[in-house]
Amino acid sequence: MPMKPSEMPHTSEWLDIHNPATNEVVGRVPKATQEEMLAAVDSCSRAYSSWSETSILSRQQIFLRYQQLIKDNIKELAKIITLEQGKTLADAEGDIFRGLQVVEHACSITSLMLGETLPSITKDMDTYTYRLPIGVCAGIAPFNFPAMIPLWMFPIGMVCGNTYLMKPSERVPGCTMLLAKLLQDSGAPDGTLNIIHGQHAAVNFICDHPAIKAISFVGSNQAGEYIYERGSKNGNFVLYCVSQGAKNHGVVMPDANKENTINQLVGAAFGAAGQRCMALSTAIFVGESRDWLPELVERSRSLRVNAGDQPGADVGPLISPAAKARVESLIQSGVEEGAQLLLDGRKVQVKGYENGNFVGPTIIGNVSPNMTCYKEEIFGPVLIILEADSLDEAISLINSNPYGNGTAIFTTNGATARKYTHEVDVGQIGVNVPIPVPLPMFSFTGSRGSFRGDTNFYGKQGIQFYTQIKTVTSQWKAEDATLKSPAVTMPT
Ligand code: NAD
Repeated sequence: MPMKPSEMPHTSEWLDIHNPATNEVVGRVPKATQEEMLAAVDSCSRAYSSWSETSILSRQQIFLRYQQLIKDNIKELAKIITLEQGKTLADAEGDIFRGLQVVEHACSITSLMLGETLPSITKDMDTYTYRLPIGVCAGIAPFNFPAMIPLWMFPIGMVCGNTYLMKPSERVPGCTMLLAKLLQDSGAPDGTLNIIHGQHAAVNFICDHPAIKAISFVGSNQAGEYIYERGSKNGNFVLYCVSQGAKNHGVVMPDANKENTINQLVGAAFGAAGQRCMALSTAIFVGESRDWLPELVERSRSLRVNAGDQPGADVGPLISPAAKARVESLIQSGVEEGAQLLLDGRKVQVKGYENGNFVGPTIIGNVSPNMTCYKEEIFGPVLIILEADSLDEAISLINSNPYGNGTAIFTTNGATARKYTHEVDVGQIGVNVPIPVPLPMFSFTGSRGSFRGDTNFYGKQGIQFYTQIKTVTSQWKAEDATLKSPAVTMPT
C-alpha cells in the first residue's frame, strides 16, 4: 500500500534488508530520527488515557478479531519471514502459530486480570485488589523469531490497557509491520501501538525515555546486559524482563527409545538452522547410548539444506555472512582444540543459491567443557556431543554451565526422569520433549544466566509484568457504630 506523504520516514539513514538465501537486498528499513521517536512515544502517551479506560470487553473484542486476522494472513506473514529471516516456510508458520497462541490466550484477559477480594478483614471492613495497566511499555526483539517474540510482547501489554512502542530487529522488520497493520484492522485505536526502527539509537531512546514504564527485551547477552543496566539507571518505575542467550543440553540415557531420541535430537538441533534460543545444541550421551552416534550422524546428513521457500527444505540459511563466518570459526575452534568432527557442514553447496549463508548440519564429538565451542552459544546448525558415565555426572556438568534456558532428558525410566527434573538447575525441562517451550497458559521460565528481571514472558507472569496492583480497604459502618474518639494507636 503506497504511503501518504505525511507517513514517509524523514530519515536519511536506511539499513538494507537481505534475503539470507541469496544475500540480495530485498528492502530497506528507515532508522527512526529522534523527532520520529519522540512523536511515537508522544502518540503512545496520548492514546494511553483513553485506551487504559476502554472497557476490558472492548479490548478483548479487538484481540479476538486480531487472532482471526493473524490466522487469515498466516501464509503472507510466513512469506515475509522466510524472505527476510531465511527459515523454511513451514517453520515460519510455526513461528507465527506460537505467537498466535499468545494472542489467543490474551483474549482470556477478563479472567486473567481479575483481582482478589477478602471480605470482613475486621468488622465492616473489606479488602480488594485491582490490576491496572502501567502506562507506555516498550519491546525490543531479536531476529530469530520475527513473529513469535513481538507477539509475546505487545498483545499482552496492550490487552492489559497499556500502549506500546515496539522495536523489531532491524534485520527482519517486515513481519512486525504486517502484524501492526492487522492489529489496526482489528480496531486498535491510533497511537496504541507505534513501531520504531533502528539499532543502538532506538534502543538507547527506549532505555532513557521517562514516559516508558516497562521494557521487554529478548536477544543476546551482550545487548541484554546493556539494556538492563541502562534502563535501570534511567527510571524509577522501569521493569525488566530480559531473556538472553542459551546453551541447552539434551541428556540421552541408554534406556531411551532410540528411534524417537535420534529423530528428536536431529530436529531440535538443526531446525531453523539452529537459530533458536531453545535449540538443543548440546547432547550428553550417558553410558552405552554413545553407540548411537553413527546413526545420529547418518540421520543428520540426510537433512536437505535449501532456501526456505524451496519444497522439501529442512535447513535454511543463517541470517548473515557474518553469522556464517562465526559459526564456521567456532566449528574450526573445536577441531583445533581436539574435538572430533563427525559431520562437517561447512562445504555445503546449494544449487542456485551459491551466495546464500548456508551451513549444513554439523556434529562435533568428543567435546569437553573447556572448549570454545562448548562455552560459546554457536547459534547455527551445530550439535556438540559430550559423554558422561552416569546421570549424576551429566547433571553436574549442566549445573556448572552459567545458562539455564532449557534442557531435555530422553529416558523410559520414570525415576530417572524425576531425579533429573528435581536436580537439574534449568528453568524449562523436557522429559522426552526436546524443546520444552511452555504454552501461553504457563510462562517462559528460563533461569540463571538466561534471564534477568522480576517476572517472565506471557502466562500469569506476563500479566503481572504489565500491570500494577491497587489494594482498596474500605469500611462501611452502620450509623449507630460511629467512632466515639480518634484512634491514635495501630489497631491490634
Ligand atoms: P541481538 O541481541 O543482537 O539483538 C536483539 C535486539 O537488540 C535487536 O532489536 C537489536 O537491534 C538490539 N541490539 C543488538 N545489539 C545491541 C547493542 N549492542 N546494544 C543495544 N541494542 C542492541 O540478538 P539477535 O542476534 O537479534 O538474536 C539472537 C540472540 O537472541 C541469540 O543470542 C539468542 O539466544 C537470543 N534469544 C534468546 C531468547 C530467549 O528467550 N532466551 C529467545 C530468542 C533469541
